[in-house]
Parts: sequence; structure tokens; C-alpha cells
Amino acid sequence: MSDITERVNLLDFDEAGLRAFFETLGEKPFRAQQILKWVYHHAETDFGAMTDLGVALREKLNRIAEIKLPEIIREQRSSDGTVKWLIGFHGGNAVETVYIPEPKRGTLCVSSQVGCALNCSFCSTGAQGFARNLSTGEIIGQVWLAAQALGHERNGRRRITNIVMMGMGEPLLNFDNVVPALSLMRNDLGFGFAAKRVTVSTAGLVPGIRRLRESIDVALAVSLHSPVDDVRTDLVPLNRKYPIAELMQACRDYVSEKHKRTVTFEYTLIDGVNDHPDHARKLVKLLRTVPSKLNLIPFNPFPGTRYSCSSAERITRFQEIVMAGGLIATVRKTRGEDIDAACGQLVGKVLDRTKRSERIKLQIAETSA
Ligand code: SAH
Repeated sequence: MSDITERVNLLDFDEAGLRAFFETLGEKPFRAQQILKWVYHHAETDFGAMTDLGVALREKLNRIAEIKLPEIIREQRSSDGTVKWLIGFHGGNAVETVYIPEPKRGTLCVSSQVGCALNCSFCSTGAQGFARNLSTGEIIGQVWLAAQALGHERNGRRRITNIVMMGMGEPLLNFDNVVPALSLMRNDLGFGFAAKRVTVSTAGLVPGIRRLRESIDVALAVSLHSPVDDVRTDLVPLNRKYPIAELMQACRDYVSEKHKRTVTFEYTLIDGVNDHPDHARKLVKLLRTVPSKLNLIPFNPFPGTRYSCSSAERITRFQEIVMAGGLIATVRKTRGEDIDAACGQLVGKVLDRTKRSERIKLQIAETSA
């Protein structure tokens, strides 16, 4: 069949979007539920096989719509069980998606953008520049493909128990595509994950945190990396726009009332930069003001970086101080190192990179309107 007009990709819609789509076709909105079940429960992408839709509707959908998934370009399996996929999109861009199995859970780390515009000085994704936002279908498509590749639901056991938006990109700078994808992760007709099992990680986009709270119930992680503004600005330039005090207020508001949970703070430990015992003590003071958990991440080096990882003693000392101060702190084990799947090592394939400095100004201006 020739594609005269571009077909609508139904992976780009959450339940509300699908209902609206069927209404514009003059169809009953409950068609949305039928499609969701086929796509996400039965992994069916062929309208012809969706027997409860009726022949006429199936034919209509074949003409105007499609269920178009991204493509797995490469799969790598680490000796520790971590799996990394390079996932390619129309136009030649690609991102990386990582599955991290642990004894009691399996976490899927999903990307939200091709590259990243934020230019955090210790992250290799930032060093590659920014190409574009992923569509909702390209985000939920990563989950769909990983679930298929892993045999997600086999023998009544789910391989993926948690999803974290901690891959490439800043999810809150791609808000309008990320939220419907989160809604498909949460929806029982989609992947059906509980709110506490879907986490959005942000470098600290304050207006985005506030909007997220109003939009959907998911867990929040914030990449903090320092309790001191000067140091944090060197690591996360976005801190100049949204300094620590403002960020903490947004976090406190996030967990109040509706979202009665804790915020997870990520803290990448970099030798001689943010791993001093005094930083640990300042961190205790700061995080006492927010219901929180602290996730300490040993810095993962990548080619060309000026930073190195804190020594094991220094990491232990840091953890002891914050725990003595009453914080709940874990040190994240580095996983999938042999396949470059660790935090900050995801690269993908970034085409059409734009000058980061210009992009970031543009995007921040847009989001802080
Ligand atoms: N932009 C979002 C989502 C990316 S999450 C955010 O900043 O939260 C990626 C996580 O890995 C972040 O906590 C980031 O700070 C951390 N990270 C990035 N580079 C790293 C590196 N080289 N070593 C260890 N952690 C790193």
C-alpha cells in the first residue's frame, strides 16, 4: 500500500489521546481500551489480528494509522546480566536503553531525548550535544521492545519491575511527550506499573517538577551532586537558573499532600570535587528538610573526561557521615561496565547536533515562561 499521507502512529497516544482519536473517527471511545490491550498486553501490532475491532474498522485503521516501533540495532549482554540495547529511530538517530537485573527487581532505564542539551560537565551524554526530543511512541517503544526481548511476562513473573527515566536526555525538557509515555507505563491497560515503580529523574528543572506534580503520579529523582551552589553550578550548569534553595522547595512541594513519598537524590561522587567530608555534612543539613533517600553513584569515567572516581575509602567515609546524620543512603553498584552501560556512559547516536549553549538557552527560556 502506498503511503500518500503520513499515517498516525498509535504508540504516540496514551488512553486519553486514543479516545480522542477514535472520537474524531466517529468511533466509540472504548476502542481505545481494546487497542491498548492488544498493543501492550498481547504485543500485537497488526490491526488485522485485532479480532474484536470489526472488519471495517480494521481496514480503516490499516489505511490511516500504524503501530510503528523503533528498531533494535544492537543488543549487548554484560557478564553481570545487564542488557543494553541501541535503539534506532526514523531519520538515523539512536538512543540506549538498559536493563539492570537484581535479585529482587529488574530495572529498565529509559531515554527521553537523543543526546542532551544540559551539558553537565561529568556526563558523557551531555558531551555529545543534543539532537531532538523523542516522541511518546519512541519512549514507550523502548519499554515495549525491552519487554519483548526479555520475555517480560513469562511464567507469571515480570522481568521488568521498575522503570527509571534515567537514560539519555532530560525528561522534563520533553514534558509533552514524556507524560503520555509515563501514563502508558502506569495504566493497567498499558504496562500497569505502580506509581512508586516509575521514576522521573531530573537535573533540577524547577517548573518541570511543579508541572509533573500536577500531571501524573510518579516517583521523583533529582540529580543533586552537591549541597553547595558554586560546586553544583560547575557540575550542573542548570543550577545557575534554578539554585539549590529553589530546587529544594520544589522537591518539598512535590512530596506534600498528593504525592506522599520521598524524593530520591542522586549524588555522583567525583574525586576531590564533591566528596569532601564537609560536603557530606552540608548534605545532611540540606536533605533533612525533605523526605528523601540518597543514592550515591561512584563516578563512571568516559573518554576525554577531566574527572575521576572517588576512592573506595572516600566513598565509604561519605556514606558513613550521611548515615550518621540520619539520611538513608545507598551506594549504587556500578553495573554493565563491560558494555559501557553504566550511569553517564550512554551514548547512542546523535545526529544533527546543535550548539549546546544555544540550545540550552532556548530550552530553558521556553520552560521558564
Ligand atoms: N537528565 C536527567 C536524567 C539522566 S539520569 C538527570 O540528570 O537526572 C542520569 C544519572 O546518571 C544522573 O543522576 C546523572 O547525574 C548520573 N550520571 C551522569 N554521568 C555520570 C557519570 N559519568 N558517572 C556516574 N553518574 C553519572
